[in-house]
Amino acid sequence: MSRELIDLAIERLREAFPNKSRSWVRRALIRFMRGTVKEFNENTWVVRGLPELGDKYPTYVVRLRDGRYYCSCFESNWGLRRKSEICTHIATVILYRKYKKLDSDVYASVINIECVDYYLEPSELKGKVKVVKSVRVIDATDKLNPRHRVTYVIYANEPLEVRAKLVCDGEVRELSLKLTRTRRYIVELLRRS
Ligand SMILES: [Zn+2]
Repeated sequence: MSRELIDLAIERLREAFPNKSRSWVRRALIRFMRGTVKEFNENTWVVRGLPELGDKYPTYVVRLRDGRYYCSCFESNWGLRRKSEICTHIATVILYRKYKKLDSDVYASVINIECVDYYLEPSELKGKVKVVKSVRVIDATDKLNPRHRVTYVIYANEPLEVRAKLVCDGEVRELSLKLTRTRRYIVELLRRS
């Protein structure tokens, strides 16, 4: 497991559940790091119980149904109280899935430009192509027209050839981009920088 990837997965978990406590996140992380999650099928995971975290059963079953997670610990004595909450068995499954996704392959191309005004428009590929950009001001001498360093990442789930129109300070360029294989978390890191 890569530390950088785990940090990103944790960040995604926090974004998805901003009201959850640090201890909730920490418990989900402990379960994940101990390798307690096993995928049973597309919508079912088995989580090994950890007595030190208060688990009374050797295993818990987490299911995803209609976009909602259910855990077998809901059926225990504490079920009524826990039903409205997201237990850390579920949290660790979510973490596991986010990690797995970040660890998966993606096909990407990166463009770096420096301009005042910029714009990128990929040709339409039925929503298959996604674009993320990161922008940094590098020269704000002219306060109304600061100069930026812009990084575009164009990515898809398959190795496509993408045409795109890039506009930088009024100069229009037609690009032909070959998306090459990389890992999804590299794209996510670029998105953050
Ligand atoms: Zn549970």
